[in-house]
Amino acid sequence: MDIVKLPGQRAGGKVWLVGAGPGDVELLTLKAYRILKSADVVLYDALVSDDIMALVPQDAEKIAVGKRAGKHSAAQDEINQLLVTKGFTRKNVVRLKGGDPFIFGRGGEELQSLVEAGLEFEVVPGITAASGTSAYAGIPLTHRDYAQGVSFITGHCQLETRPMDWNAYANPNNTLVIYMGILNAGLIKTGLMDAGRGADTPVAIVSKATTADQRRFIGTLGELDALASNPELKMPALMIIGEVVELADTLHWFNPNADSELMEMGVELEDRL
Ligand code: SAH
Repeated sequence: MDIVKLPGQRAGGKVWLVGAGPGDVELLTLKAYRILKSADVVLYDALVSDDIMALVPQDAEKIAVGKRAGKHSAAQDEINQLLVTKGFTRKNVVRLKGGDPFIFGRGGEELQSLVEAGLEFEVVPGITAASGTSAYAGIPLTHRDYAQGVSFITGHCQLETRPMDWNAYANPNNTLVIYMGILNAGLIKTGLMDAGRGADTPVAIVSKATTADQRRFIGTLGELDALASNPELKMPALMIIGEVVELADTLHWFNPNADSELMEMGVELEDRL
């Protein structure tokens, strides 16, 4: 689909592509906070937490454009066009995405539309789900004794028709973080095991990481599909596969209730800053 520019009009505004982090409102950067506070319009994804949306000024226009697995609320072309239209007609346009906009966030595609339309933009990085989950689940992604590297991959692609090259990810000294993989847990398990990764490799699935509803489901690669089909597992959820998961019990620190206790006591974010 071609982007429609508004003929004869000069762009009135600027677009900020902003990462909102994985959930915990305090994981927002100060820059993202400042930009949100001066937003005229915010186009946000389903993954952006309510606590973060509560920071947007009351009179700003808020447009939900997010996608959830299987449920498309707006096609990517429509989002690109909407961003361009808002860029021409409003001053401070914020495109707010969960985590980091350049990690499985289609931020690059959206910026390409802005470039095509001649709009000004800036990018504000966010804490990606892998970092937030790793910290709050007590699982370092690298560790000199366990993993010398880490790969972030998506488990969402059409694995049946366009198979992954699992050999590239079967190295036991490498941690694998899989975004959007829950529905494909069975294929991921057999793909990795056929490529030689042991059935006893430790794995963790962490749901709603960094929020008061965070849950960890820990087991082995051989159990990955069983862990993923636990009815108590809520989306979004991330998989961490590798020896580093062995540290999860020793390094666990996060108490999901501590923050909600603060909230219940009426301590607002602004008071905490
Ligand atoms: N741009 C985002 C990722 C978008 S893809 C980022 O940088 O984090 C969406 C996937 O991210 C989800 O399917 C899930 O695998 C993961 N994810 C996002 N937030 C999460 C959270 N709070 N807890 C666990 N997984 C999360």
